[in-house]
Amino acid sequence: MTIVIILAAVISVVLAVLLWVASVALHVEEDPRLQGIVDLLPNQNCGLCGNPGCKAMAQAILDEDSKLSQCKPGTADMREDIKEYLESFDNDKHDVEAIKVKM
Ligand code: SF4
Repeated sequence: MTIVIILAAVISVVLAVLLWVASVALHVEEDPRLQGIVDLLPNQNCGLCGNPGCKAMAQAILDEDSKLSQCKPGTADMREDIKEYLESFDNDKHDVEAIKVKM
């Protein structure tokens, strides 16, 4: 019985270490502006903008592939808020390139 408990503990530690190594090796750096844009979008995840959801739309805005007006549930205030957010973001501090916001 003791052998089984020790074996289970060893296997648990080995698996925990493997998960930690995988999380470090597979970590993807996210644009620091992404979540800020997502927070300002309607978050209905309706896909009407042509993207599979609001987070994908936020990435498309950062990639300059989508216009803010593509978000059909979005309001003029929302578009202005996102534009203002991106224009006031400290790009140098976060080492990201400024983008041209497409309205
Ligand atoms: S249209 Fe707007 S609310 Fe709908 S998924 Fe696109 S960004 Fe989100």
